[in-house]
Amino acid sequence: MKKYLIIDFDSTIIKTETLEELAEEALRKNENKGNILKEISHITDLGMEGKISFSESLERRLKMIELDRDILDRVKDELSGKISDSILENDHFFRKNAGMIHIISSGFRELILPVAEKLGILAENISANDFVSDGSGRIIGVDKENPMSGDGGKINSLRDLDLDGKIIMVGDGWTDYETKDSGAADLFIAYTENVRRDNVCEKADYVAKNFDEVIKFFNSY
Ligand SMILES: [Mg+2]
Repeated sequence: MKKYLIIDFDSTIIKTETLEELAEEALRKNENKGNILKEISHITDLGMEGKISFSESLERRLKMIELDRDILDRVKDELSGKISDSILENDHFFRKNAGMIHIISSGFRELILPVAEKLGILAENISANDFVSDGSGRIIGVDKENPMSGDGGKINSLRDLDLDGKIIMVGDGWTDYETKDSGAADLFIAYTENVRRDNVCEKADYVAKNFDEVIKFFNSY
């Protein structure tokens, strides 16, 4: 039986949340930075509580931080230096098992690609959002045709991959767990190297504090 390892990006493969990195960079010289970051995290919460849709939450946050090419390029460079320690130490595992490994992230493909390349994860095995920009290069949103931009994005994107075999999802968040709850994934590993969420760990088949433990679980399964 084939098996697949599906890995979340933010706070799993990398130590931080991409959207927060983008906001920090975009608001670096903004005197109102504190208030805007607070409002962004309020909108994040509204989305997580289901009071607004994921797509609305993403769009509203992107509008508040006025992203342009320069900011994207700077954050892109920074993220390669923020790969989780135990993930970076196991890059040989990603290269060796490239056909079985996918990234599923509600983050942004363009920013995930260099990190994936550094680890030997295949570009075609990345499911993530795609930025849409206006004529002047300013980012105005994400591609709404992409299933990742909507509610249940991870579940729908995983189903679209139509993988034939046992599917093991690894991540730190509730939407990662939901891939198993919905039946799109067979097993869920809660990943706590960067952040531990008790409600997510309670639902997990296994709690891994680093990637060595994920590999052990994956190999024994
Ligand atoms: Mg995450």
